[in-house]
Amino acid sequence: AGKFYQFMMRTKQPAGTVPNKLYLTMDDLADSHGNGTLRLTTRQTYQLHGILKTDLKSTFQAVIRNMGSTLGACGDINRNVMASPAPYAKNFKPEYAIAQELAKDIGDLLAPQSGAYYDVWLDGEQVLTVEKPEVVACRNDNRFGTNFEGSPEPIYGTQFLPRKFKIGVTVPGDNHIDFLTNDIGICVVMKNGEHVGYNVYAGGGMGRSHRNNDTFPRLASALGFVGKDDILYAVKAIACAQRDYGRRDDRKQSRLKYLIHAWGVEKFKAVTEQYMGKAFQPLADLPPFTMPTYHGWNEQGDGKLWYGVHVVNGRLRGDAKKALRAVIERYELPVRLTANQDLLLTDIDPAWKSDIVATLTAAGVKDASEIDALDQISIACPALPLCGLAITEAERGLPDINKRLRDVMNKVGLPADEQFLIRMTGCPNGCARPYQAELGFVGDGPGSYQIWMGGTSNLLKLAEPYADKVKEGDFETFFEPIFYAFKTGKNADERFGDWANRVGFKAIKDAQESYKGL
Ligand code: SF4
Repeated sequence: AGKFYQFMMRTKQPAGTVPNKLYLTMDDLADSHGNGTLRLTTRQTYQLHGILKTDLKSTFQAVIRNMGSTLGACGDINRNVMASPAPYAKNFKPEYAIAQELAKDIGDLLAPQSGAYYDVWLDGEQVLTVEKPEVVACRNDNRFGTNFEGSPEPIYGTQFLPRKFKIGVTVPGDNHIDFLTNDIGICVVMKNGEHVGYNVYAGGGMGRSHRNNDTFPRLASALGFVGKDDILYAVKAIACAQRDYGRRDDRKQSRLKYLIHAWGVEKFKAVTEQYMGKAFQPLADLPPFTMPTYHGWNEQGDGKLWYGVHVVNGRLRGDAKKALRAVIERYELPVRLTANQDLLLTDIDPAWKSDIVATLTAAGVKDASEIDALDQISIACPALPLCGLAITEAERGLPDINKRLRDVMNKVGLPADEQFLIRMTGCPNGCARPYQAELGFVGDGPGSYQIWMGGTSNLLKLAEPYADKVKEGDFETFFEPIFYAFKTGKNADERFGDWANRVGFKAIKDAQESYKGL
């Protein structure tokens, strides 16, 4: 017998938008060509694990022919563009539709133009995509010397980007997508109900390496405001600056965040403005951000409902997968994938609600309000056994660890609904954005984790490393003094991340050392 090679396929879904037909196709492919499960990622896409090499072509064809794509889901190129996925009607909360539409336009702008993708997977058959004239105009515009003239890739040329490139678009007050962790973070700006432009931030990114202090997580820095007709040019200018000045000699230093760190924001902004042919204006004022989960039943604003389903660490399997498929097929529901690895069933007629609830409940799918507050918002990357970079467990380990942490919280007397934002990854690459968590676990050895603390629930502040090589088996003894210090020292309604920042790591370490037990 020969060797059987297996692959992971990742799709591209701007704003996490999944047409009904594509959902059903992905669900079928998971059973016929994958490992029977579907993974929803932290960047609003699917990952299908366990595809045999001999099935690759038919799997890709099925995705592409059913309104999906994988073009740009991997590689040194713009990846899936995230956006706040809530399906609010345009005339109810227009900023959401604006963000989602911009995510699609940016995805089109920075998609590779050569037909090689279709040559490989569809034997040259081009799939028709409708691009807006302004997207095409921006891509082909060479006024500021940004393009490779005569190349099939006017923006990427022959060398593409130094490294993967990530973009997220959010709306005022809603930081569900963790927008500052992207190479480019964008926020829609509205004035008196009218869309006027965007605030633009650059140089975010999570990935780092253990024992290499030249690598670090970073939040995007503010560049400024641009009018709504300038946003595609601003995005292109930032990508082109990274293309031309990002380091190509060292992959560990090649993300945009290191270029901005090395240059300083002002120099990067000035170079970007040359490519754009315009200056950024001062940032527009925005209301305070929170991180909504989108769970439960919600009004879309057009008479329809959406239902946010909590998916444990993004893994759909078994009876829950079957029941979700049943209601999505029965009512031809379009779906959205969230940045917290959850799923939104959208365009639901209120008359269908009771049947949907009954079908999901019968399959054991709980409403998010019925599950532990830690589980509601925690996320983990796939890690072992599916990711080649994993050092230790994440997806498989977190549910039990959350339970154990809850037991410790109960023991020290924290209320049953106390909620920490917990994120876990199997390596320092940080795919589940652990450096933004109130309590982050980053695998640093078999069964051991680096502990990060001090992120905030609105995802606007980086956490910091608190301890290395904490053994998973020691979590109870490690965390009990910390949780006790939090319980006894926190202000009313103060969250764990805010408390850790207020009192500081030294005070927490002192409390750990002097703890005598309950
Ligand atoms: Fe990403 Fe590392 Fe997790 Fe793999 S183990 S999914 S690279 S964070």
